[in-house]
Amino acid sequence: MNHHLFLNAVQRPARYVAGEFNQKPIKPAATVKWCFAFPDVYEIGMSFTGISLLYGLLNEDPRSSCERVFAPWIDAEARLAALGEPLCSLESGTPLHHFDVIGFTLQHEMNYSNVLTILNSGGIPLFRKDRDRTHPLLIAGGSCTYNPEPVADFFDAFVIGDGEEVVLEINQLLAECPVHQTERETLLRELARIPGIYVPSLYEIQYHPDGTIKGIQPVSPGFPFPVQARKVRLAGAYFNSSPLVTSTEVIHDRAAIEVLRGCTRGCRFCQAGYISRPIRERSGEEIIRISREMMKTTGQDNLSLLSLSTADHKNLPGIIDGLLTDWDRSIGISLPSLRIDGFDLRVATRLAELHQSGFTFAPEAGTTRLRKAISKDLGEREIMATLEGVFQRGWQTIKLYFQIGLPTETMDDLDGMADLVCRFRDLLVRKVRKRPKLNVSVNPHVPKPFTPFQWFGQDDLPTLKEKTRYLKRIFPRGPVSLSCHEPELSVLEGVMARGDRKVSQAILRAWQLGCRFDDWRETFQYSRWLQAFEETGIDPGFYNQRERGEDEIFPGKPSPAGSSASTSGSNGTAPSKTRPLMTAGTAAAAPCVESVPKTTGMTSIHHRFTQKALPWSIWSGRTQIWRKAHRICAPLCHKKPRRHPMNFSIPPQAANSAGPFVCVFQKREFHAGSGRSTSRKH
Ligand code: SF4
Repeated sequence: MNHHLFLNAVQRPARYVAGEFNQKPIKPAATVKWCFAFPDVYEIGMSFTGISLLYGLLNEDPRSSCERVFAPWIDAEARLAALGEPLCSLESGTPLHHFDVIGFTLQHEMNYSNVLTILNSGGIPLFRKDRDRTHPLLIAGGSCTYNPEPVADFFDAFVIGDGEEVVLEINQLLAECPVHQTERETLLRELARIPGIYVPSLYEIQYHPDGTIKGIQPVSPGFPFPVQARKVRLAGAYFNSSPLVTSTEVIHDRAAIEVLRGCTRGCRFCQAGYISRPIRERSGEEIIRISREMMKTTGQDNLSLLSLSTADHKNLPGIIDGLLTDWDRSIGISLPSLRIDGFDLRVATRLAELHQSGFTFAPEAGTTRLRKAISKDLGEREIMATLEGVFQRGWQTIKLYFQIGLPTETMDDLDGMADLVCRFRDLLVRKVRKRPKLNVSVNPHVPKPFTPFQWFGQDDLPTLKEKTRYLKRIFPRGPVSLSCHEPELSVLEGVMARGDRKVSQAILRAWQLGCRFDDWRETFQYSRWLQAFEETGIDPGFYNQRERGEDEIFPGKPSPAGSSASTSGSNGTAPSKTRPLMTAGTAAAAPCVESVPKTTGMTSIHHRFTQKALPWSIWSGRTQIWRKAHRICAPLCHKKPRRHPMNFSIPPQAANSAGPFVCVFQKREFHAGSGRSTSRKH
């Protein structure tokens, strides 16, 4: 490619040239040539630590080389098309279609249109069915692969779970069966035998007339079903201690180490918490050793201790002490994910000495009731005490995350959010004399697969807009800045999160209509997405507003117990009808009423509930109601799921009917007769 003609005409040319410090040497003679693709711009992709890990891992393997490519911004895509040049890798300038494997990372559903841009600009046919052994193999990993169905028609294979081990197993296979010399069908069948790999072309999906999934079957026996997510032991796992140092500014310009994987909490909206179980951590000594090495090889003066909840690390104060001891220059340490409960104020004291500027906490909901419903069990007193401790140690800026549109939310909860922020502001102003700042970010809730809220409908667009407007009206003023996520973006994300294979047609059409960088406010075009849905006959409400039935099969989800159908992406730990909720800190699901064998469990629950024997026929009628009650109520109730099913009171007349039944903890009455259950508060 003529770099001058290209770079002269695009914004931020540094996005398209490599040459960073610590770049690995190009290996033209490598047997397996990978190109790692990130479907967003360079500044965002280079802030993702996974890229550094896989880049280091594949380049250190003598069999393979790994280069990088990022989504070209709109002007760069147009410039490439005008010049008639393909998109090339950063390192060697090789056109994408010359590689053996393009490895995508899918961290966010709103990047799907950029995947098509990369493929099209790189000269690679978009659909899997149009590719053969002359084309690169397309593999994707990342959290979106837990439901890969909306993009299943574009990719050859998906890695479900942790990638550190499986990527080397793929390398081994491709060294033995070269991509361009092996029939694609044969190669895909071999790939599907590697644990943790889902090959969509080897699974057939049948639909009911109403559009819900009837079943998903492998095309022939012998393929794993369901695919089990891969999990690696974090202690001692590979880590690239000489990551790339970028020459241009990126979003997170610092050294970063993952200290913990998984989360001990079971917040019911949090997909990351569920899919990353079980919890695994690096030892304090390992973290300190790698961090010191990394700070030396990069020259960075800021270190980030990454995880879903860094405060959960057993030895966090010791790690911070160890990192700060005997350091010959001033360094900053950032803890991007902190929970208010269990936050050790000794850590705040130590970090305050480093003049850190801000802390981020996520109460998520404004009232104690709603926080209990989402399993973020934080009392107001606890929140205020932690924040007071943080302010007293000299912190001036606090960032808070909330969600709107959570199941069971009412306007009272929005009022509660404004009240809570008001109290935080008063505390902040009282304790911090110099430039206090409270940044509040409010995001619409998106029900995600593999969470207990996956069965719930998402708020529709007018409701989310109304709630956003209401919050802006009632939010306190002063040193408070409120930023609200676009509701349209969340609605679209909701479609992609629980979408099936039919959605791929809408993604293609939206891309053809010009949709690019959909998670960027300035480029997002909701009207074009609506046009794409209309032209392809996809009803967005079917995917995001519909409450799912008890027996519904999810794309990328295990099917209900007893069914012969199941799908990819199960790691055996997801909440389902037989495993509705998990106890914190364990990968195993808590037993519930539906998983108890009839002959023993029902009797024992029965005795605990009624204290006297009942004929089986009456008992089974009540059990049906219990099942519905459990599905609706258990995710919302603050009692532990293990105890919850025993706490419905069912009036005698409701024994063989549709209710009503009452959850004695929540004082809520439910009607379950129609299948689409509704609830109302007393
Ligand atoms: S604390 Fe809750 S929201 Fe945070 S990562 Fe853990 S499960 Fe998710």
